[in-house]
Amino acid sequence: MRVLAFSHDISLALELVSAGNSLGDVSLLITSDQEKSSEEIMGPNELLICKEIESSDQEGLVELLSSLGKEYEVLLLSGDRRGRELVGQIAQRIGGSAAVDVSSLKESNGKLVIERMTFGGKAIAIEEMSIPAVISIQKGKFKPIEGLKPSIREVKLSNFERRIELVEKREKPKVGVPLDKADIVVAVGRGFRKKEDLKLAYELADVLGGVVGSTRPLAADLKWMPEEVWIGISGVRIAPKLLIVIGASGQQQFAAGIMDSGIVVAVNTDSKAPIFEHSDYGVVMDLYQFIPILVEKLREHKGA
Ligand SMILES: Cc1cc2nc3c(=O)[nH]c(=O)nc-3n(C[C@H](O)[C@H](O)[C@H](O)COP(=O)(O)OP(=O)(O)OC[C@H]3O[C@@H](n4cnc5c(N)ncnc54)[C@H](O)[C@@H]3O)c2cc1C
Repeated sequence: MRVLAFSHDISLALELVSAGNSLGDVSLLITSDQEKSSEEIMGPNELLICKEIESSDQEGLVELLSSLGKEYEVLLLSGDRRGRELVGQIAQRIGGSAAVDVSSLKESNGKLVIERMTFGGKAIAIEEMSIPAVISIQKGKFKPIEGLKPSIREVKLSNFERRIELVEKREKPKVGVPLDKADIVVAVGRGFRKKEDLKLAYELADVLGGVVGSTRPLAADLKWMPEEVWIGISGVRIAPKLLIVIGASGQQQFAAGIMDSGIVVAVNTDSKAPIFEHSDYGVVMDLYQFIPILVEKLREHKGA
């Protein structure tokens, strides 16, 4: 099978190359702003460079990937918001099948067989897709491979009628290490009684050198946390080496986002909370008693 891959994020693009490698030859598309990384890219058979658009130009990408896509059986996109957004549009344009959040893929009898989580992470769906197929790959599922230097081909974007005009670009304030790349995450839930109390979690994250994430209600409903740090099926999927979940019940929609974590420690007053099913260590205790003691002990240990 011939595979075409694209991601706005080069490190995710290399994961896509690794995912596509099991199917056949992989061509990776890069845009003008990504060209500086072209020297470091190893693994795809071919590197397609389009100098006319940037990776943020979703409309241009739909046009370009749809026209290039006709030469390929499988189009791989990244599992972030922008990658998922492209899937449906391109599949519609090329008359292909579409799926998002795919965690494994293989060819079988000329079709593509994929796996992805369903029922909020309670089950895995195994699906057969017709060719051409357009899919987004779940982040962190495929490790980038060491490969040879690809051949390079320049591709052009044909003229098309734009319907979207970019009016302004604004830089988002930086919130430290992105949650999905952090080695240590402290996740907070509704067990915290008020916003000010979250400082306990920030103190813990600070002493451990980690970052703070939350359940959806804290970000989406209470607005105590920024939207980009809610963890779960409708938020960010994380894979830290250490995750400490404080005052979160561990409902399946949250748990689906922590499945790839290393060691999971949960702190909850309710010994029957579902979070304990996903934890290596459980502390059945009031967070307001436990977290200050833990922070103090860790500080003592660090000699701070
Ligand atoms: C379509 C859909 C998508 C969703 N997507 C997501 C998602 O991506 N991410 C997500 O998080 N949720 C998501 N949800 C919501 C999800 O179902 C849960 O409602 C949510 O995860 C619960 O958040 P919580 O654990 O903070 O709150 P709760 O479920 O209210 O849990 C609070 C926990 O704190 C404990 N607690 C209370 N006081 C203390 C204390 N003093 N010390 C220690 N523990 C204490 C309680 O025992 C309880 O277990 C989604 C829901 C739907 C319908």
